[in-house]
Amino acid sequence: MTTVTTKVLMTPSKRQDEGNRGHHHHRDNDDDDDVDLLGEIAVSANNQGTSIPRKRDYRQRAHCNPLANGRWEDTPTAPDAFREDGHYERTFLEELKKDEGKEAKITFADIGCGFGGLLVRLSPLFPKELIMGMEIRAQVSEYVRERSLALRKEHPGEYQNISGLRTNSMKFLPNYFEKGQLKKIFFLFPDPHFKRSKRRRRIIQTALIAEYAFCLREGGILYTQTDVKDVGDWMKEKLDMSPLFRPMTEGELNEDVCVELLRRGTPTEEGQKVKRNSGSTWLHCYVRVHGNPRY
Ligand code: SAM
Repeated sequence: MTTVTTKVLMTPSKRQDEGNRGHHHHRDNDDDDDVDLLGEIAVSANNQGTSIPRKRDYRQRAHCNPLANGRWEDTPTAPDAFREDGHYERTFLEELKKDEGKEAKITFADIGCGFGGLLVRLSPLFPKELIMGMEIRAQVSEYVRERSLALRKEHPGEYQNISGLRTNSMKFLPNYFEKGQLKKIFFLFPDPHFKRSKRRRRIIQTALIAEYAFCLREGGILYTQTDVKDVGDWMKEKLDMSPLFRPMTEGELNEDVCVELLRRGTPTEEGQKVKRNSGSTWLHCYVRVHGNPRY
């Protein structure tokens, strides 16, 4: 399935409905209704002249081995031990708690978030969801965290709901999320690991799909996108085989604001690179269906 770059701008009312579809929240700030939240990012890309950290100061080697045993002392022993207030302002968490009548928990996870472009785009679309980028490279995850803090400082009251943390998502996701906690999980431009002998490192694997299904609630969505057709086919094949997921229907795809964002090809740093080079991308999205993961 090749992504067509849609040029259609969403009307603000559509965006608002879509952004909150399935949730009981409504945007509390309608002042920016003439801003196209799906269009190019309002924050300057290289962050010149702002306090937003620059990518080039957070360079790190391109790859980490996800199968290696690293030092992961910061990993919570169980989701209960995870401190949301280590990432999001306490006052913001309190506000969410008041609205929801229960503790605010992360509901969207961007796995292998890189420099966090998607988080920045999702933040205003889903202002009441706690969104977390999970990234294995220490410097890169640090960049995402500092980018979120800087954005909050520059735009008071905004970007309260995004952050980034360092983890190996192939090993520790159930340490962060309890069963059915997530509404959305994203795998955008995952490392391709081309060599046959390295395919075990791919983030979409049959055994791991059961873990992703565990963290996602019924009706939750798993998004994948890649510019490597072989990787797209691989992810599709593995997900098609899982009894815990079904592909989104054409109608569902067309209704989903995140799909629209991904079809435009601009939300993440990798996506932007592909778009600049006029490359194709493959987008495969799945709905978590009823049933329990078997390991
Ligand atoms: N999603 C981002 C984007 O579209 O711009 C980044 C894509 S980049 C090609 C893949 C990212 O996944 C890298 O930043 C890499 O460090 C991260 N990654 C790879 N394996 C991971 C793992 N097991 N857990 C968390 N992050 C991982």
